[in-house]
Amino acid sequence: MEDFAGRLGRVLGQMGAAAARSGRDPSSVRLLGVTKTRLPEEVAEAVRAGLELFGENKVQEARAKIPLCPSSAEWHFIGHLQGNKARHAAALFACVQTVDSPGIALSLDHEAEKCGRNLEVLIEVNVSGERSKFGVAPEGLPPLLETVNGLARLRLTGLMTMAPYAEDPEEARPYFARLRQLRDEASARTGLSLPELSMGMSGDFGVAIEEGSTIVRIGTALFGPRKSLVSRRVIDPLDSP
Ligand SMILES: *Cc1c(COP(=O)(O)O)cnc(C)c1O
Repeated sequence: MEDFAGRLGRVLGQMGAAAARSGRDPSSVRLLGVTKTRLPEEVAEAVRAGLELFGENKVQEARAKIPLCPSSAEWHFIGHLQGNKARHAAALFACVQTVDSPGIALSLDHEAEKCGRNLEVLIEVNVSGERSKFGVAPEGLPPLLETVNGLARLRLTGLMTMAPYAEDPEEARPYFARLRQLRDEASARTGLSLPELSMGMSGDFGVAIEEGSTIVRIGTALFGPRKSLVSRRVIDPLDSP
């Protein structure tokens, strides 16, 4: 089976090709490895292969895992955050990509203040309007942006979204283009630069880069198919000869 370094090389190659197609500098796009359900050993292997940025979508899982991972790793929170988890999120992560309400922004600011740190944040936008997705509706973005921008401990650097799942990555393109347009409008209105656009996953990151992504969040294309943590502690069929 291909090892992590091989998969990393392939993903970086595809990212570079997408950047080249759209006339972008490949260094303007960061690769975030999504490590939900992965073990600390797998994170360590990724760090040895040169990956620096990682994302988790559950606070509980991150609390158990991050202390066991190489301390050089930078961690972003990419899941839905509940107010009662803001304390741990503010302590564990360099960036929370999924701020989607004034309440969660206020909680994070308060908890960051208590830890004496500043927290980078992105606002998650529900561009597709799917009810199963989190994120602020596009109409709610201007007031939320005002709130977040007024909080002393939060440093707002951009927007994040998830496109609806589709076999054909081209179907995701309008959602990525819309996020960039929302960012451009917000920048023009407020004068904030908002350089970051976190968009694109294993199935659609090429299209996302063509539409301006600066952070692609990749799980399965780097680490292989996900199994539940529980089942793989019992037996990992891929380990059998
Ligand atoms: C799981 C996850 C990803 C990565 O998904 P893959 O399809 O495995 O690349 C990206 N973003 C978020 C928010 C996720 O929860």
